[in-house]
Amino acid sequence: MVYTGRHSSQCPLCLAPAQAGRLCLACLRALPRMGFTCRTCALPLPFDAKACGRCQQNMPAFDRVVTACLYTFPVDTMIGRFKFQGQQAMARPLIALLGNDLKQCSDPKPDILLPCPMHPVRYRARGFNQAAIIAYELGRALQIPVDYQLCSRSAATRPQIRLDRKARLKNLAGAFVVNGRPPPHVAIVDDVVTTGATAQQLAKTLKAQGALTVSVWALARTPMR
Ligand SMILES: [Zn+2]
Ligand SMILES: [Zn+2]
Repeated sequence: MVYTGRHSSQCPLCLAPAQAGRLCLACLRALPRMGFTCRTCALPLPFDAKACGRCQQNMPAFDRVVTACLYTFPVDTMIGRFKFQGQQAMARPLIALLGNDLKQCSDPKPDILLPCPMHPVRYRARGFNQAAIIAYELGRALQIPVDYQLCSRSAATRPQIRLDRKARLKNLAGAFVVNGRPPPHVAIVDDVVTTGATAQQLAKTLKAQGALTVSVWALARTPMR
């Protein structure tokens, strides 16, 4: 993975002067940051509680989701420009925020970062896996190795975008192949957590192969499932 992209001293959102790789202060303050969330799945909650209703009823296979922002404007636009137009300047401030949040968080450090593998058809169309770029940057900032080979995605699943959560889980059964034994604590890295179905299936696969703790780190999370 080669990390490319020029650094500019302009805020990528409003073009005001800013530190390289950062948003200007006004845009930074306007970002939809996470408030109270479920400590397992990071679902936004109106008050501080240990777990949301769904996690209380049915503990997910992953142990903890950490995201920097809500997947609403302008974060959705920033991530879209990064993914679909390759504009890494849009992702860099979000990666920096997530890195800082993780540095301040008292959770135990994972042994490796695992970029969420991309559907092979989509990878061929896009030419890069956004999760691998995010994992590379976070790994560098937090001094955690990134394993790009541990897990691959089988071609036999459909793209998820038009499926609801139930259909996503069904579509993803058997989607991930773990090559070898994972270390005790793995952090899956992705750009956005939407329904959590991908994280659920991947965490399940990792735990079946011997992982004990699975964290999920993403730039953003949708406000609802
Ligand atoms: Zn700005
Ligand atoms: Zn939850």
